[in-house]
Amino acid sequence: MPQQPRPEPEVPPARPVLADDPPRFLSLEREVEIEYRPQMLAALQGKVDAVAATAHGMTPVCPPCGQPMRCQDTRDVSWLARCGCLHAAVSRYRCPPCHYECRPLLDLLGVEPGRISGALARLLALLATVAPYPLAARLAWLLLGVTISPMGIWRVAQRLGEATARYQDGLSRYHADRRSVGAPTQAAPSAVVLGVDGCSWGMQVPSKRRHRKSGETLPPLPPVEEGRFREVKTGVLLLPSERVETSPGRRSVVRRFLVTCLGDADAIFARLYAQLRELGWVGAHTVVVIVGDGAEWIWNRATMFARRCEILDFWHALEHAWEFAQLRYGEGSAQADRWVHEIAEDLRAGKVQDVIARLKRVRPKTPELRESLQALIPYYSENAGRMRYDEYLRLGYGIGSCAVESAHKQVVHARFRQAGMRWSEAGARRLLALRLLLLNDNWALLDRLRMVSLA
Ligand SMILES: [Zn+2]
Repeated sequence: MPQQPRPEPEVPPARPVLADDPPRFLSLEREVEIEYRPQMLAALQGKVDAVAATAHGMTPVCPPCGQPMRCQDTRDVSWLARCGCLHAAVSRYRCPPCHYECRPLLDLLGVEPGRISGALARLLALLATVAPYPLAARLAWLLLGVTISPMGIWRVAQRLGEATARYQDGLSRYHADRRSVGAPTQAAPSAVVLGVDGCSWGMQVPSKRRHRKSGETLPPLPPVEEGRFREVKTGVLLLPSERVETSPGRRSVVRRFLVTCLGDADAIFARLYAQLRELGWVGAHTVVVIVGDGAEWIWNRATMFARRCEILDFWHALEHAWEFAQLRYGEGSAQADRWVHEIAEDLRAGKVQDVIARLKRVRPKTPELRESLQALIPYYSENAGRMRYDEYLRLGYGIGSCAVESAHKQVVHARFRQAGMRWSEAGARRLLALRLLLLNDNWALLDRLRMVSLA
């Protein structure tokens, strides 16, 4: 039925009114910002000059050979900070026999010539960690009063991301060696929950940059190949003792630590292990509770923990029963609902053997049904040892892998899987590393990492 047009109001609606000026206080704040920015720059430059003066005339020693190095030249170097551009006269030293070169003042200050450095670099990387680059550039203007292109943001994120990714990789390698030193484990908890989730991720196909010769039209780009997918995995560590019920039926954890990598099963377990060592969470009596969706690679790696408890995610276990019920009783039927509900109740009560026995008594009427049943029974039989849900609930271990699934979405989907996004492997690896710092509440670590120059 066509909609009746609404009768026109007698008086037309008035245009909403905007104030002529911003509130007075807002103007005052802006005035002060504009007035003091040059003064901040001058003060900062003064402090840089003082550091340069103390460093002046100190001849560095060549690290490879221990000989004093020779001053090659001294040049004016500038870099960018939030309040503006800073300068310093920087000497370059060289060791003639070793060809080793350095600029000690830049190393001391931790800045890169011609680049955004210091606090501004870290704040821009933070914006890139939460928002796509063009949006991050807009936020940089609104929040920091800094004009920068999306590409400029991208560059900063790459350099800090590379530093972070190298640190995380290095930590994994360090703890993979049995001689590594972890945090003390005297106060290790009695149980730690470990979960892993993954998804596949389409990666950009590396292609050669095409150069246009004068006026020539380039042929259209070839279609992007499908199938170049890599797995991205996320792992979560949490303490069951820190689970709290925020509202009836809603649980959340006080702390959780996330690890992530573009890589195989061994890589993610190496990350998890390194993080456990850093936290000091696995002591002689700690039970490592591993929650998995039934994927073999998780159980195969779980054996690295001597004291462990393997749990098949309750919802995955139920999903299989659900599929069978749909086939047997029809999709969306009340009978299917009831049947699955009963199975769920029995499984939760730890009666997996009863459930298996009941399934074995079912006489399937169609080949399809028989096939489904013949998959379900071994799935439960093989995993029965991981389905003692009554016990896990009693011990407070939990029975589901929702924590890891939501973590994976937060790490990956929320930033990386937006419309039209394509990632290079290096770009994804670097930004994932930064995102982990943020989500693990460890952003301050960036203060202790040197940016990596990427030529
Ligand atoms: Zn030397």
